[in-house]
Amino acid sequence: MSELQENLTRIRSRIDQACERSGRQPDSVRLMAVSKNQPPERVAEAASAGLTLFGENRIQEAKVKIPLCPGQLEWHFIGHLQSNKSRDAVSLFQVVQGVDSLALAEELQKQAIKQARSLPILLEVNVAGESSKFGWNPDRLLAELLQLNALNRLEVHGLMTIAPYAVDPEQVRPIFRRLRELRDRCTDLMGAPIPVLSMGMSGDLEVAIEEGATLVRVGTALFGERPRRSDAGNPPGASDSVG
Ligand SMILES: *Cc1c(COP(=O)(O)O)cnc(C)c1O
Repeated sequence: MSELQENLTRIRSRIDQACERSGRQPDSVRLMAVSKNQPPERVAEAASAGLTLFGENRIQEAKVKIPLCPGQLEWHFIGHLQSNKSRDAVSLFQVVQGVDSLALAEELQKQAIKQARSLPILLEVNVAGESSKFGWNPDRLLAELLQLNALNRLEVHGLMTIAPYAVDPEQVRPIFRRLRELRDRCTDLMGAPIPVLSMGMSGDLEVAIEEGATLVRVGTALFGERPRRSDAGNPPGASDSVG
């Protein structure tokens, strides 16, 4: 077995065990391979190991990489999106996770109309109120939800969050729980289900699943340490928001 296959087996058993502990079906949790900084060959390797869902956090990188990867994969944008890159985001990705303002949502709506499609989105919430992170303040999201929902080309499929870094994942359990509770309040407000909770990464996926994650985003535990991003096309000083 390749190292990636071994890693994948380990991740799947972590997911299965967390599901078992919380009385959930293993197929209620989708596994996303976070392929940022990884070359197309690594994506192809992951695809042949059976993975179908991939996440990228930089438009420039995705624009070059996705056409070089196997077809039939599902790509989600998981980074902070600048409004002026909305056109590319809508043409490259099936789902934009990390929509973090009404202004960005309005721009995505415009691009979705131009490109004659509807766009599933996840709303990123900054549950812990960290100044270093993007995302809605929970109260603001509740206040603006109906305006978001009125953008008819956008489909609000769920919420996503990036928990603060913690040595002990138990420390971030309340963050995941609060995202789930916020999702429930959003569901009540919209009168329609918002099924997706995108939360949990390499270090904290068990706790996230126990708190209701339906999609975990895993990079390092699958691919190993990320290679540094090559600088082509990236402004100096640009760096990953995570890891
Ligand atoms: C990089 C990244 C991940 C993956 O993090 P790992 O700790 O490597 O699993 C997940 N989500 C987002 C938004 C990221 O940017």
